Amino acid sequence: MYTTTIGNYTKETNFFNCTTPFELINEFDSPLYVYNENIFRKRLKEIKNLVKYKNFVPHYSVKANTNIHLLKIVKDEGLHVDTMSPGEIYMALASGFSSNELFYIPNNATQDDLNYAINKKILTSVDSLSQLKLYAELNPNSNVAIRFNPGVGAGHHQKVVTAGKKTKFGVNMSEFDEVKKILEENNLTLVGINQHIGSLFMESDAFIESTTNLLEFAKEFDTLEFIDLGGGFGIPYHKQEGQKPLDLIALGDKLDNIFSNFAKDYGREIQFQIEPGRIIACECGIVLGTVTGTKQNSDTTYVGCDIGFNVLARPIMYDSYHDIEIYTKRENPDLINQPVTVVGNICESGDILAKDRALPLPEYGDIIAIMDAGAYGFAMSSSYNQRPRSAEVLICSSGEVKLIRRRETFEDLIACMK
Ligand SMILES: *Cc1c(COP(=O)(O)O)cnc(C)c1O
Repeated sequence: MYTTTIGNYTKETNFFNCTTPFELINEFDSPLYVYNENIFRKRLKEIKNLVKYKNFVPHYSVKANTNIHLLKIVKDEGLHVDTMSPGEIYMALASGFSSNELFYIPNNATQDDLNYAINKKILTSVDSLSQLKLYAELNPNSNVAIRFNPGVGAGHHQKVVTAGKKTKFGVNMSEFDEVKKILEENNLTLVGINQHIGSLFMESDAFIESTTNLLEFAKEFDTLEFIDLGGGFGIPYHKQEGQKPLDLIALGDKLDNIFSNFAKDYGREIQFQIEPGRIIACECGIVLGTVTGTKQNSDTTYVGCDIGFNVLARPIMYDSYHDIEIYTKRENPDLINQPVTVVGNICESGDILAKDRALPLPEYGDIIAIMDAGAYGFAMSSSYNQRPRSAEVLICSSGEVKLIRRRETFEDLIACMK
């Protein structure tokens, strides 16, 4: 048996089902990405049923987590997928999605990137006038979509705000005349327009505002088959402080209203799409690691572990906050919180998972778990410092624990070097 000295997310959600963190580390080694199928399916269903409007097709943004076993579950739950690169298209096709269940939304695509999608018959959205011209040269007399900048952005960090005035993304609505001209000259049909305003909004105001802008603009085009509103739906990373999730019921109601009003104005029940990644994959995943010891330096108490930024890049990349749980087999562990700084094993001072966090002091051999790591966790991991990338396991609804990606080996580190 073991004690959880802080946090209750994994208890409340029965995250470990029939297994325990100690059994998992014992069998699959540390650090380890662990996913829970029940939680993943629950999120997929919530998004699938977000609105009552009939012609609604949510797309899971595969960049958040591209493990093929998870993608197969996405397919099973009936969602489509959106992809950013030929590699993501390759993974989605390998998971069993057909071309018409994929949407390709690249940024700064090369001719080869675009040709890859064209050859696979995957509808592509371009996001600048120059990319539209390039696409027209490569694939005239065809269908195309365009990503517009709705003028409003949102997100948890400037690095992930992807609309508004300070972003490389999207065609500006003021470039409308030029867009029409390129479309006409090349006999391209604009079948879809899309936006993606940024990542991790917890209030839907900016999303609704940008959507309203985009829909007003959409009325200028009479060939549309769909409008795609992008992703960015946030999750509560501060659950231990009582942060509430995004109110999906209220958001769904608002969208339902907007969709049916638009259908009336437009004269057709046009298809609406969204592209959430994080809200689907994030809370079904955690990273387990091993506590390597503690150290005092001046006023700071450091807790060391084997989860460096090679394993989880979000804290160093965006100053992201993740809830932490600690599990111990010690008898009568001290449960008193004290401020500690949790660090990884990478040779850089920035390798910090959590700064001045109130935690009970762990000891060597305890397990540390980073919550909400299912999205942009493994996907952004690397083998920096020549640490082979982690394994990933899935706790299936049946209770079975499935290794869905083996741990990389030293041979893998050298495999691509000729
Ligand atoms: C990253 C991205 C998404 C998904 O964003 P989330 O914040 O994970 O929902 C959707 N669409 C586009 C175009 C993206 O770049």
